[in-house]
Amino acid sequence: MFHIYCPYCGEYREEEEFHPKGEAHIVRPEDPETCSDEEWGDYLFFRHNPRGIHHEMWVHAVGCRKFFNITRNTATYEILETYKMGEAPSITAESRDDRAAAEAETAEKQEGVRA
Ligand SMILES: [Zn+2]
Repeated sequence: MFHIYCPYCGEYREEEEFHPKGEAHIVRPEDPETCSDEEWGDYLFFRHNPRGIHHEMWVHAVGCRKFFNITRNTATYEILETYKMGEAPSITAESRDDRAAAEAETAEKQEGVRA
């Protein structure tokens, strides 16, 4: 068992109180009447399934019953952050790539100093 931080309750609660509700940040097309069948189909049915950083919507079902978002690493199951609906995640796959690149660059510079 593990604990998940609910950003509305402001505390860690047991995982059994929560339910996943799928990918976060899916935006409904502005005008469904004018969008293509492909755009509407993408909105309704197609979801990303990345290995690594993923943003998911969860609900605190046996608590405040509010929806919120989680940034999770799908390879390690690690929950990196939780945040309220309407907020932007502070951790993204791109920011992770930037940080990994910066760390690699730093390591190269340090090796350069030693050599
Ligand atoms: Zn809650």
